[in-house]
Amino acid sequence: MHEQTIAGAIEFHGTGLHTGEPATLRILPAPAGKGIIFRRVDLDNFELRADVASVARVAYATTLMNRGVWISTVEHLLSALYGIGVDNAFIELDNFEVPILDGSALPFTEAITRVGLKRQAQPRQYLRVTKEFVLEESGKTLGIYPSSSFSIQYDIDFPHPLIGKQSLEVQFEKNNYADLIAPARTFGFYHEVEKLQESGLIRGGSLENAIVLTETGMLNDTSLRFKDEFVRHKMLDLLGDFALIGQPVLGRLVAHRAGHALHTRFVAELLESSSHWVVDTPAVVAARSGT
Ligand SMILES: [Zn+2]
Repeated sequence: MHEQTIAGAIEFHGTGLHTGEPATLRILPAPAGKGIIFRRVDLDNFELRADVASVARVAYATTLMNRGVWISTVEHLLSALYGIGVDNAFIELDNFEVPILDGSALPFTEAITRVGLKRQAQPRQYLRVTKEFVLEESGKTLGIYPSSSFSIQYDIDFPHPLIGKQSLEVQFEKNNYADLIAPARTFGFYHEVEKLQESGLIRGGSLENAIVLTETGMLNDTSLRFKDEFVRHKMLDLLGDFALIGQPVLGRLVAHRAGHALHTRFVAELLESSSHWVVDTPAVVAARSGT
C-alpha cells in the first residue's frame, strides 16, 4: 500500500537486441513520487521519463524519445519493475538500447529480489477503472474492466506447432510475476530474420536471447521454460507497456492477439479517457474492499 524503490544499486552488462550495441545499465533507488526515470549517462545524464508522453516508436520494441534523445527496448525492464512493484527508480544507461540479456525479464527480477525492495513513506495511488474501455484493431482486441484487483487474461493464436492457441489468466498478487511471467523469453520466426535484419533490426539477436521458431519447431536446443511460454511473454510485454501509465492499476485486462502498437495506443487513450477511471489512495481501496 506504500510506494517502493529498490534497496540498493544493481548493474547489468549486455547487448541491445536490435542495435547489437553493448551497454551497461544500472538501476538505482529514487525518492517517493519520482516514478521511473531513465538517464543517458553518455549524454550528460539526459533524463527520459517512462511515461506515455515519451513513447516514440513501437513496431518491434517500445522506444522512449525526447528532444531527439532515445532509449529503445525498454519493455522487459519496465515489465519487471511494474510486475515486482518498484514505483520509483533511476535507470542509468550508457547507450541507446537496454541490454536484452536472455530475452526475458528474469535477470532483472532475480537481481531486484537479491538486493530487495524498500518501502517508502508515501502511500501508493491506484488508477482504478470504473467503466470498461475497449480498443479493437484489425482482429486484435484490448480491453480493461472494473475490478478490485489487477489481472490479465491474454489469448494468442499463431499457426505454429509449438504455439497454436494459448490462453492464460493471471491474478497479480504477492510476487507471482517473478515466477509466472518473468522467465518467459522473446520469440521470433526464422523466416522473418532476413527481412528484419535488412530493416536494421535484431542485429544483436541470437539463440541466447530469443526463441527462434522454424516451420516445425525451434532452432534453440534448450527446452521451453513453460509449455505456453509464448503467451506468457506477450503478457510480459503488455505489462511493460502498461507500466507507462506510471502507477498501479486496479482492473481486469483482457487481450486478444494484441501487440506493442496496440498496447501503447491503448495506454495513451485510456489515460485520455478520464471518465473511465479514478485515482484512489490506499485508504479508499481498503474501505472499498472491506478490509
Ligand atoms: Zn518482448
